[in-house]
Amino acid sequence: MSSNPYDFAASEPEIPAKAIDSGLYIVATPIGNLADMSQRAIEMLRAADLIAVEDSRVTGKLLHHLGLKNRMRPYHDHSSEADRDALLAVAREGVVVLVSDAGTPLISDPGYKLVRAAREAGIAVSTAPGASAVIAALSISGLPTDRFLFAGFLPSKARARSDAIAEIGNVKSTLVFYESGQRLGATLAALADQLSGREAVVARELTKKFEEVVSGTLPELAERYAEAEPKGEIVLIVGPPGEVQAEQGDYVSALKDALETLPPAKAAKDIAKRFGVDRAEVYERAMALKSGA
Ligand code: SAM
Repeated sequence: MSSNPYDFAASEPEIPAKAIDSGLYIVATPIGNLADMSQRAIEMLRAADLIAVEDSRVTGKLLHHLGLKNRMRPYHDHSSEADRDALLAVAREGVVVLVSDAGTPLISDPGYKLVRAAREAGIAVSTAPGASAVIAALSISGLPTDRFLFAGFLPSKARARSDAIAEIGNVKSTLVFYESGQRLGATLAALADQLSGREAVVARELTKKFEEVVSGTLPELAERYAEAEPKGEIVLIVGPPGEVQAEQGDYVSALKDALETLPPAKAAKDIAKRFGVDRAEVYERAMALKSGA
């Protein structure tokens, strides 16, 4: 067998054209461009005895486009255990497909409890992978992709959002968020306040007619979107911490200087902003310096 992944002829026998086995199938659908629907995803939908959907109107349009008319049943993570059992009863003997309105199910979408229950019940779970906005956005962002933390939607209330940002702000990874146009300005302002000058990207309407990718520092993007609420669907990506510090040197000596004239909280706020580091971390260091540690 060839080890070349592009040698399709050699790998052909590993993808046998046979009837789909019974089980639960997690099937990705496009995030905006119907041409991104994979052939395997279409085959699985065609074979489905039942399709579990978020919204039957949305999936109904997709099925109509594909010329299919399978039976659909709504499924959400707040669906009852009895709803899950009913889907799994079908999956024991037949093919149940789970889709969400767009992209990969379970990624900020329902399905986790269903997959878990199926695996616990010994029912085969497989997938037709495909589009997901988080991966699509990362792949064109120009920000580091070797380590990333996908944080889904940040909370909308200011305090909870600030706590969530503080919790992940120091993680040495690129951060990826889903966001709405309505909330983008407030979210960028909060990120700029807490994570300062880190690089970021706003990726909007991916794979659609008005696709747009805008890069800048967090303060630059916060300013750009402060008044102008963008339309459409958005992925927000923040580059990892550390590069700003590396360029500007160790923040501790600057903090020592600041503590000569400022109280620890104010000094920590200023230095965190200047060096792009977490304010809580700088404050802790400031208190340690004050106490002579
Ligand atoms: N399961 C989906 C996936 O795999 O991408 C995500 C579902 S989540 C409920 C919907 C969010 O994904 C949107 O609010 C937006 O933040 C992001 N999103 C979905 N499609 C997008 C697109 N075409 N361009 C940018 N962001 C998109």
